[in-house]
Parts: sequence; C-alpha cells; structure tokens
Amino acid sequence: MKKIPLFIFAVYLLSSCGSADQQKQNEQTSDHSNELFETYKNYFIEALWKTYPGWASGQGYHKYDSVLILPNQASTDRELAFCKAQLDSLKSFDLNKLSSNNKTDYYLIENHLKSVEWSRNVYRSFEWNPSEYNVISGIAELLNGTYDKSDNRLRNIYLRMKNVPAYYSAAFANIKNPTKEHTELGIEQNLNSISVLEKDLVDSVKASGLSVQEKKEFEARIWESITAVKNYVQQLKAMKNENPKSFRLGKELHQQKFLYDIQSRYTATEIYNKAIARKKDLHTEMFKLSDQLWDKYLKGKSKPTDSLLLIRSVIDVISLKHVDKDSFQTSIEKQIPGLVEFINQKKLITLDPKKPLVVRKEPAYMAGVAGASISSPGPYDKNANTYYNVGSLAGWPDKKAESYLREYNYYILQILNIHEALPGHYAQLIYSNQSPSLIKAILGNGAMIEGWAVYTERMMMENGYGNNEPEMWLMYYKWHLRAVCNTILDYSVHELEMEKSKAMDLLMREAFQQEAEADGKWRRVSLTQVQLCCYFTGYAEIYDLREELKQKMGDKFDLKTFHEKFLSYGSAPVKYIRELMLEELGEKR
Ligand code: ZN
Ligand code: ZN
Repeated sequence: MKKIPLFIFAVYLLSSCGSADQQKQNEQTSDHSNELFETYKNYFIEALWKTYPGWASGQGYHKYDSVLILPNQASTDRELAFCKAQLDSLKSFDLNKLSSNNKTDYYLIENHLKSVEWSRNVYRSFEWNPSEYNVISGIAELLNGTYDKSDNRLRNIYLRMKNVPAYYSAAFANIKNPTKEHTELGIEQNLNSISVLEKDLVDSVKASGLSVQEKKEFEARIWESITAVKNYVQQLKAMKNENPKSFRLGKELHQQKFLYDIQSRYTATEIYNKAIARKKDLHTEMFKLSDQLWDKYLKGKSKPTDSLLLIRSVIDVISLKHVDKDSFQTSIEKQIPGLVEFINQKKLITLDPKKPLVVRKEPAYMAGVAGASISSPGPYDKNANTYYNVGSLAGWPDKKAESYLREYNYYILQILNIHEALPGHYAQLIYSNQSPSLIKAILGNGAMIEGWAVYTERMMMENGYGNNEPEMWLMYYKWHLRAVCNTILDYSVHELEMEKSKAMDLLMREAFQQEAEADGKWRRVSLTQVQLCCYFTGYAEIYDLREELKQKMGDKFDLKTFHEKFLSYGSAPVKYIRELMLEELGEKR
C-alpha cells in the first residue's frame, strides 16, 4: 500500500509538464495514462490480496496461503483504510484518457471499493449473518489444490490454523441480533464441514512426508480448531435472540445493494416493473401456443377455463418427451455441432474454430451436480482448458431421474445448451479472453455474464432455432419465465414483504415450477439478496441496447457485428458498454 502515494506523484509530474505542441502532448499523456493505469492495477491487485488472503488463495494466488485474518475491529480498520487509499489513487486518473478496457476496469475497481465501504458501514452483514464465518471451506481448497506439493500445502494450512480459535472468538463477538435463517445456515455449514478437519485433513497429515514431531503438533492444532468450530456452533445455538432480525432487507438497503451488485442503468424498481410486464406478455404468448397445441396432445380432454392451468397441462404433457437416463450425457454432447452449424449459417457470431468447446464428463469431485456447467480457468491459470462439464444421471433413483428428465426435457435441454455453451457462457468467455483483464477476471460483472447467456436464448429463438416449432417456443418461454420470476421474487420478498405462500404461488402456479424447485428458490431468496435479479436485469439491458442501436443505425445495423462488438468489452457492466458503443457510433456519424 505504501507504493500508492509514489504513484500519485508520478501522475502529477506527468500532467504538469508543459509542451508547445498541445496535440502531441495529449497523445503522449494519453499513452502514458494507460501505461500508468496498468501499473496501478498491478499495485491494486497486490494490495487487494494482502488485505484478503483467503480470497487470494481462492483465485489461485498463493502468496498468503498461511494467513488467516481475524474478523475484528483492527482488520476492519485496515480494510477501510485500503478502500480509502485506493479510491484516492483512482482519483488521480483522468477517465477520458483511458482506453475502453481501462475505463471499464476503473469503474469496476471504484464500484468494488465503494461497495466494501457500504457493506461495512451500512449493510453490516458481519453482525447479522453468522454463516459469513467459516474457515473450513478455505482449508479444504488448499487441501484439494494441485498447485503445489502436498507437504507444502499442508504446512501453509498448519500456519493458517493457528488463528482459528481467535477467529471464532472474534466472529462471535461481532454477532448482534442475527437473522434466524442465517444463524441456522451458519450452524449447518460449520457443523457439516467439520469432517474436512476430522477426516480429510487428519488422513492427509498422517499420509504426508511431515516429520513425526510436525505431525504431532499438527494433530493437536486440528483438535483445537475442531473445538473452536464446535464452540462457535454451541454459542450460536445457545444465543438468546428473541426478536431476530428479519431476513428481508427492506426497500432502502435492497435498492442500494442492487446498485452495487448489479451496476445497472436501471433501478431495482424499474427492473421489477419490466419483469412484471414481461411476465404478463409471456403468459399471453404461452396461452396462445398452448391453446393451439391442445388438440395435438390433449384432444378430447376438457380445456381448463383458467388459462394458467391450461398452459400447465400442455407443458406437463410436452415434458414427457425427454432423453433416456443413460443417454443424458451423450445427448447434450451430440447437440453441440448442430448449434455451431446454426450459429454459422445464420451469421450470429464468429466462433473461433481453433477454440472448440471441450466437452467432458463431469469430473468425480463435481458428481451429483447434474445438468451442465462451464469450468473456466482462474485468473492465474490462463493456459488451462475451459471445459463444458456434463453431468451423468447414472446411479440416480428412477423416480428422481424421471422428474429431472421431465424438467430438462427434449426442448429445455437445447436451451440449457444455448445458455451454458453456445452462443451463451462459453462464447462470451472466449471473447472476453481476447481483451484480457485481471480486474475483470476478479471483479467481472455477474449481470453482464448471466444477462448475455439469457439474451442468447431469446436471440436464437428469434432467428428460428428449432424451426419455430410451437413446442420449442412454449418451453423457451417457460425457461425464460424462471429468470423473470427470480427478479420478481427477490424484489417482492425483500422490498414488498411477500409471504412464503404468495411466493410459492408465484413460482408454482405462475411460473409452472415443481414444488421442490420452488422450495429451493424460497430458501435461496431468504439467504441472498439481489443475486436473483442478475439474470433478468442483464438480459433486459442487453436486449434494450440492441433495440436502441437497431433504431439508431437503421439499415446499417448488423446483428453479428453487434454481438462481437458487445462482447469485445469483456465482462463489464452493460451500462458502460452501452456508453462506449453509443460514443463510438456518435464518432462514426
Ligand atoms: Zn419419462
Ligand atoms: Zn448462467
């Protein structure tokens, strides 16, 4: 952190040097500004990792693996001093002189620092969320890592564990009037992870090349740590908390958190209103399609008068078309070439043939997470492969598998592939790697990333994916309704006091979800805030930007060019990408 003042000095020198040739000076300053900003970013990241060693380890930066910071006033003071110093350093840069990539990095850093200050001073989850305190997930990460020899990793774990008892004492001292839900989560997660210490770590120490003496001291420390975790759990259980804080964030805090977490040009209320309108349109479209499909699937049966029930009946029968349990993995894999062909033929976006999607069967450590997901290399692991993990249903009980396969039926499975792989997350990742930014790898905007994947689903449908079959559209709408209702749910629960029964009605009756899925959503909305809004918000912003550009550019608008240009800015908030794209459009005219 000491390097920062020096740095401001350098910038000051630069901007004060006079030159006869104004134009030339501007160009030079402009070049230097970017160079200086690159240097600044490196300082920032170094200082960030020093302040947050656990986060650093998780991102693959292992210099501070042995450090466990105590969650006390001293560390909070250091954290706030870090934010202040960094915000001061940022002020020394003139945004107008920075490249697009640096500009968006600047915004991401600034937003992060301000959101930390807000979180410490206003949001204060460190007081009401006991599940924020857990040392074991970090230890498990080091234990399972492959970046260094096992004995070296174990020695760092040993050093880190020195602070575990003090860590939990400081944690408990922070807690004041926690929510019931986060208290239960804190108890559950800490208890569940004890086995990592008790079993995995003990076994690894025994099997290691550490000396007999080291092993003895290590084991003693493991038991001290287990006692500390159990004691914390006990304290949480015994705590008197007759009027627990509500898990609902309330209007004011929810609106603020939305600003920091999503970084949208729309407010939470504007997005909520958009989602409500979108739900209404989707219901209208879904009714038309279901009514049209009725005779194909349910001829002779009496049509429900309630339009939502009618839609549900048609969805249920179409969901019966699904792949076999045993061919789940191969069916996903087989769809990829078709997606590539469709994207190329419709000229939607250039896919680099040198970077084909590497599909792999879900690795053992991920087992149990069915469906599909993208594993991208961490910021310090750039040369590693990006994988498309496809889960297997082998070993699932038939009833569970059947319910899952109906959910991920023939149609939805294709939309899942669009979202996760092409042209969704995988394509976005390839493009973002073309303008590499460590800042965006660490602080990238979730709403942009998820929004892109959700946007591509609609975009593929608009371009005739699935031959415009009504079944395909109906299922797409059902899938899309999930993202829409995630936003409605989050806003309604945290700002409008929505009760659980109303929430279940929204998810099951209006969004056609199964009870298990809706129940899981309820749990998620009671433990998180704003996160559920990111899918629909990002989607709405990208869609609106496209329509805005279409209108402004008329005949000159080209969909492929729009997609490639949009993605070239990396995982930046859509509102900044919009500004940059509009600016460039203005210059061209
Ligand atoms: Zn079946
Ligand atoms: Zn996604």
